[in-house]
Amino acid sequence: MLVINLYKEDYDVVVIGGGPIGCITGENIKNYKVLIVEEHQSIGVPLQCAGLISKRGVKELGNPKGCINKVRGACVYSKNNMIKIGNEEIRAYVFERKVMDKDIAIRASKKCDFLLKAYGEIEKCKNGYYVKINHLGEEIKLHPKVIVGADGSKSLTGKKLGLVNNKKREILSSCQFEMVNANCDDDFVYVFLDKKYSKNFFAWIIPMGNDRVRVGLVDKGNCYNKLLKFINENEVAREILEKATITEFSTGSLPIGYLDKTVKDNVLLVGDAACHIKPLSGGGLCFGAIGGKIAGEVITKYLNGEIEGLELYDKLWKESFGKEIKRGLLLRNVFLKLENDTLDKIIEKLAKSDLIDYINNYGDMDIQTPLIMKIFKSLSFDLGFRILKDLF
Ligand SMILES: Cc1cc2nc3c(=O)[nH]c(=O)nc-3n(C[C@H](O)[C@H](O)[C@H](O)COP(=O)(O)OP(=O)(O)OC[C@H]3O[C@@H](n4cnc5c(N)ncnc54)[C@H](O)[C@@H]3O)c2cc1C
Repeated sequence: MLVINLYKEDYDVVVIGGGPIGCITGENIKNYKVLIVEEHQSIGVPLQCAGLISKRGVKELGNPKGCINKVRGACVYSKNNMIKIGNEEIRAYVFERKVMDKDIAIRASKKCDFLLKAYGEIEKCKNGYYVKINHLGEEIKLHPKVIVGADGSKSLTGKKLGLVNNKKREILSSCQFEMVNANCDDDFVYVFLDKKYSKNFFAWIIPMGNDRVRVGLVDKGNCYNKLLKFINENEVAREILEKATITEFSTGSLPIGYLDKTVKDNVLLVGDAACHIKPLSGGGLCFGAIGGKIAGEVITKYLNGEIEGLELYDKLWKESFGKEIKRGLLLRNVFLKLENDTLDKIIEKLAKSDLIDYINNYGDMDIQTPLIMKIFKSLSFDLGFRILKDLF
């Protein structure tokens, strides 16, 4: 549609949030009128992502445009040690999110209408919820049959439904620079598991090709100074970034947790709003895309009259990747309790073991927990005891 007249249109579904997962949900709703409202003036900005996506993730996202680099593995650094994982096989892709998000939105626009610079908010009514939209100062009320909260990590929709609160999830913050004139191996990502810089997550350098990198850090609280400290003090970062200049700056937030319910009345949550994020790496695009497709199919069934409510969505996403999020949260709790020296010992031990071959053969960027459990089980008695000491 060229210009939307919201007063005349009768939408079956309104999606609040025009990020990749809102768009994927919209494009998977078959034969119904869908409106996607996005508060910003353009899709894909501001950037809040490192743009590293697994092979499976790219497929789930529908092979979008915007791939700028391919990586074969990772160099994982702890305080004093390093392991290099990877072989000749391409393991993951680095994306320009602005290009990717826009391409996914263009795909979705074949089936959905878009309204930009439109802030959507749910309000309670007799039969569930309706949407109040503030578009350039004008207030518009829509009463669709279904509303999708695809409004990202802050998810006002989830909060208003009472499904999202900070007891059910933790919000980590991030700071990231895009830098040019860096000097690194474009085939590997660099991950820094050193609590000196990030107590609660990690720092990274991701090669974008042609001397460009994304350098970022996730932790609790303000990450700007922590990222500067990492860049200035970490020897590997100093070497890679010695001549580099910042060309882009971004901050963001990461919701880590597990929501038992992501459906209430005629509203459901997808993507970051539903905490569909891997707790150990912060990747949200693969599970988000799978969840978005499930949501689209369940909404279609509901509108067709094949099912009575939307609760099937909760059941299906849990069956698909819910267990992996739960196991990831358990392992994250272990990680949080480990002393930095213990973490360093684990990396040292791994560097000397033949487990690297196993990781290269069976490592999975999306289903991460079985491998980490195997690593824990393979550790020596001394190291196992040390981990237990940290835990209790
Ligand atoms: C620093 C950082 C690095 C990351 N790196 C990776 C990575 O390498 N790989 C990976 O897979 N994942 C990564 N992620 C996670 C990934 O970015 C998210 O999982 C993904 O963007 C989720 O998509 P989404 O559509 O659910 O939410 P978002 O991309 O956040 O989109 C939500 C949209 O909703 C809009 N919105 C919000 N509220 C309203 C409202 N009330 N009305 C209208 N519009 C609204 C926002 O403007 C936004 O456009 C990273 C996250 C961070 C913070």
